[in-house]
Amino acid sequence: LLSNALARIDAAQHLNALISLNAGAEAHAQAVQARVQAGETLPLAGVPIIVKDNINVRGTRTTCGSRILANYTSPYDATVARRLVHAGAVIVGKANMDEFAMGSSTESSASGPTLNPWDTARVPGGSSGGSAVAVAANLTPISLGSDTGGSVRQPAAFTGVYGLKPTYGRVSRFGLVAYASSLDQIGPFARSAEDLALIMNVIAGHDPQDATSLHAPPQFAAGTPDDLRGLRVGVIRESLEGNTAGVESTLNATLDALRGAGASVQEVSIASVRHAIAAYYLIAMPEASSNLARYDGMTYGDRSTAPDVNTSMTLTREHGFGREVQRRILLGTYALSSGYYDAYYSKAMKVRGLIAQDFARAFADFDVLVTPTSPFPAFRHGEKSSDPLAMYAADVDTVAINLAGLPALSVPAGFETVDGVRLPVGIQFIAPTLKDEVLLTLAGGLE
Ligand code: GLN
Repeated sequence: LLSNALARIDAAQHLNALISLNAGAEAHAQAVQARVQAGETLPLAGVPIIVKDNINVRGTRTTCGSRILANYTSPYDATVARRLVHAGAVIVGKANMDEFAMGSSTESSASGPTLNPWDTARVPGGSSGGSAVAVAANLTPISLGSDTGGSVRQPAAFTGVYGLKPTYGRVSRFGLVAYASSLDQIGPFARSAEDLALIMNVIAGHDPQDATSLHAPPQFAAGTPDDLRGLRVGVIRESLEGNTAGVESTLNATLDALRGAGASVQEVSIASVRHAIAAYYLIAMPEASSNLARYDGMTYGDRSTAPDVNTSMTLTREHGFGREVQRRILLGTYALSSGYYDAYYSKAMKVRGLIAQDFARAFADFDVLVTPTSPFPAFRHGEKSSDPLAMYAADVDTVAINLAGLPALSVPAGFETVDGVRLPVGIQFIAPTLKDEVLLTLAGGLE
């Protein structure tokens, strides 16, 4: 399995999905073989896996797609990495990503952009674009990304695979490099609901090393069409505007399939989601500005030396961080500063509370809610990279879910042909807090 994955990775180098290979993979595969021969039953015995480059894996480089961490080697395993290895998985490499997970296209990586295998002129989505391409291009059957505002679901939609963002606290963040800690959550990519269930049963569950980790033992299984009967599905009205024709027809086909299987489908309004993008960026950027203060060249990564410490730190951050990361640190610091705190950060936190309340109210009447994952399929390289606001607006369907801490799954549901090229379209299902399992029941039922 390992040599097969390595051969595929080698053949797909032009996609630039990986930042580094795990030099320890061969030894890990042999250790798994020995454990199996000794009679151990391992749920992921020998399964090759790729993880996003913001997840620490002992002995591998963890660059977060940034120059500032170009030479940083992890001295420890993230909880998810430890659990994967314990379950017999073999981590073969680290996936490309937008720098520090800030972006929606995987164009801002210091390692260069990742290409979408469906059309290499287009982006794979982001920020977990490398992890999505790893699964879409058959490099490995499963991969891990992180989702702060859509970074697992949107690239899953753009590359035609499944991508799950679990309930906040369901999967440990210990060893995930922080972007916006109150929103960050690790999630898997896979090509079937069954594979998602397999990996979730390994990585989810309480971890004493993450103070926000929840006590909720994972019980994931892919459902069957029978499970769809009687399911109450709410279509979020606010997500029905501004979609391309192919996204609209894919959503309608999915709703028809649900009705055909005996689910009830109704529209529901969640008015506060109209403010989700503004609130999200006013919360994510301040958290990022605080989290990224640690990259001062003293403790981690690269250092630009100068005679005095202030100049050294300034030069380190000037050379180490890319444009988008610098922009967010500046805007985040601004929004938190006294005089602006009440107008921006504090107001955004109130909107966040409203959004969570509105979702909770909707879930009194519905088992799951549904929207497109993105209003459009994969866009072209360069199309939005010079216009930060256009890039932020691409997250319109995903960020509210992180603000409310909810679980959501992007399901590959159809295609849209653009300029003669068939591009995948994803549909997003949202479940109440801690009801992540329902999403895989539903996804299995739709397969
Ligand atoms: N595109 C969003 C952002 O740039 C979400 C990124 C993510 O989920 N990591 O913040």
